[in-house]
Formats: sequence, C-alpha cells, structure tokens
Amino acid sequence: MTTDVPTHALPLLLLGRGRDLASERGVECPGDLPAPSEPGLIERARVAKAALGESVFVLGHHYQRDEVIEFADVTGDSFKLAQQAAARPDAPFIVFCGVHFMAESADILTSDEQTVILPDLAAGCSMADMAAAAQVEDAWDDLTDAGVADLTVPVTYMNSTAAIKAFTGRNGGTICTSSNAETALRWAFEQTGGVDGPGKVLFLPDQHLGRNTAVRDLGLSLEDCVVYDPHKHQGGLSREQLQAARMILWRGHCSVHGRFTVDAVETARREIPGVRVIVHPECQYEVCELADDIGSTEQIIATVAKAPDGTKWVVGTELNLVKRLGQLFPTQSIAFLEKNVCYCSTMNRIDLPHLVFALESLVEGRIVNPIRVDPDVAHWARVALDRMLALPGPTHKD
Ligand code: SF4
Repeated sequence: MTTDVPTHALPLLLLGRGRDLASERGVECPGDLPAPSEPGLIERARVAKAALGESVFVLGHHYQRDEVIEFADVTGDSFKLAQQAAARPDAPFIVFCGVHFMAESADILTSDEQTVILPDLAAGCSMADMAAAAQVEDAWDDLTDAGVADLTVPVTYMNSTAAIKAFTGRNGGTICTSSNAETALRWAFEQTGGVDGPGKVLFLPDQHLGRNTAVRDLGLSLEDCVVYDPHKHQGGLSREQLQAARMILWRGHCSVHGRFTVDAVETARREIPGVRVIVHPECQYEVCELADDIGSTEQIIATVAKAPDGTKWVVGTELNLVKRLGQLFPTQSIAFLEKNVCYCSTMNRIDLPHLVFALESLVEGRIVNPIRVDPDVAHWARVALDRMLALPGPTHKD
C-alpha cells in the first residue's frame, strides 16, 4: 500500500528507547489527565484511516484518551471489544487501543487471517503482570501438595495474560468478567458440590473482585477467603489454611481501582449532601461496602445514563471515563472519587502519536506491534473463554 501521507518523524517513544516521564507508572499525579498530543496529528490520523478504509478496524477501550476514542470504530470494555473484533472477519487489521491482555484476547477470538496490533507494546496492565505463569503453576503444586487441587476450580478474571487463561482452561476452570463473576463463581463451586459443598476456587489475579463477589454475592465469609502471595513460600499460607479456605485469592490488584479509600468515600458523603457513590468491583472490599452502587465499566455508564437530572455522583473508576461521563451527562454532577488516584498510566501509553504510527505504517504496508499468541496457549485460553461463553447471563461486560 502507498500513500501521500507525510512520514516525517513522530514525537514517539518506541519501547525500550528513552523514557516518557509523563506516562511512567508511579509518577505523582495531580488528578489531571495527561496533556493532549500534538493536534497536527489529528489530520494525519484521519488521512491514514481513510486510506485504509474497511481494511482496518479500530477498537477503543473506555479508559482511553479522548484523542484516541475519536478514531475508534467501536468503544467498550475488554470483552465487548474482543467480541467486536471477532464479528468483523472482513477486517484484516484490528488496531486495539487498550492494553496487552486485551489485544491477546482479541487475537485468540479472531481468525488466523486477522492481525491484531497494539500501537504501543508498553501498554501493559499491572494487574495482569501480578500473576506470572510459572508462579501460578507453583501455586497449583502447593495446592496439590496440600491435597486440595482436586477440589479446586480456577476462575480467572479477563484481566490476565493469555498464559494464565490457558492454565485455567487446562485445569477445568473458566474466565469471568466483572459483570458475570458471580455466575462464574457459582458455576465453579457447582463442579465440586455447590457453594455449601467442600470445593474451593482459586481466583486470579484480582483479589478484590474475588473477595467482593464471594462475600457480597455468594454469602461466604471473609474468613472463608485467604490470600495467596506468590512471593512467599507456599503463598504465605499453611497447609491447614489452604485446606480450610473456600476462596484462595491471588495477591493481585488493579493499580487504579485498588487505591480508592474508605476515607475518600466518607469525605465525599460529608462534602456533597445527597451524593451517590458508585465504584468498580476491583475496588477494595471496605470501599465497596460503603458504596451505593457497584458495577463494571459498562454498568457504571448505564447506571449514570438512566439517573435523573441533578443526580450527584462520585465515581470510583478510571479518570478518563469519569471525565467523559461528566461531558456526556452535563445535567448531572459527576466527580472523581479520590484526588490522589491517577488515570491508568499504561492505558494512556496509547496516544495519538502511537495510533498514527500504527495506522501510517499499515498504509505503507508495514505491520508494527502485532500481537500473536502461541497456538497451544491460544487453544487452552479459548477453552476457558468458551466455558465462560457457555455460562448463563451476561458475559460481555468487563
Ligand atoms: S485500569 Fe487497572 S486493570 Fe485496567 S488496565 Fe489499568 S491497571 Fe490494568
């Protein structure tokens, strides 16, 4: 493919070359979004996308920057976007504006003829990175040594690497999203005699979603839950603790949602009379207990959308989405739950320069940053994903 699009150097940092302090993890955040990229790139993105026509399908996660969302053919949560990619077999190129595990899922669910592209390979997910395949295999060995592996079903959150999804598929487990976690957990317990039976669930990698669902939705107690720390011998748990537990929660969390605090909820209630607090189930159990509403990304959008004019919200989810909700529903008052929590810095690695880089490269006939999952890993991950798709109720929300 050729084009007249100019190809002078972009203000772009390729993986491993230089540092972009504005988007590094752990930098101080005053609560503002990252600065928009060079506006001149908007026209280049338009020209490149038009040149590619139907051959490219651009997916934009809800937590992406506005400058990226503007070029998305469809927006959504991770699983909805992967499904959308699979529903467009005529598009040979899927540009996934999200993070690495999402692009992996899209590659697993799309045909071999389609290529999934992640505009910046540094767009990872700290939660997904908290469960490495070798660590999870070691944990399974610990469960085997404790004599409980046969009674344990793995349930893995969508926000995980393809390798962990494959582990789940190989060991009789299922994937879940934040919308169907209750259904997935009930299914898992049913494999070993029901919620009141002797079985256990190994929940990966988000301890908060696992705990919130087990205790708030299934009626298990906090004492039924133990946290397996992969950095400690036998997860930091005794054989007896592993044998007594019903929920074995992996010690992982979301770097954004895990930081909302009880104090922030109490402050909002004190300072904003009549406020409603809505948070994502990746938030800590104590925060969810104090909230008025809990919901996945799509559920948060739907709940705010149907609220009457004048409703006052504080929202505990990613900053880009909260700001966009404020723009979409100006007749409501919508604020971010906590001043000290950042946007998702890895999500925000995808910016206009990287999107232009991916699109213009395609125009020139070059595929940059393809995401290709090993076929054996993809097979077993697909087994786990298909088990989720066979569950009753909603499965397409994150
Ligand atoms: S918001 Fe949390 S779970 Fe989502 S990509 Fe960022 S770190 Fe990962």
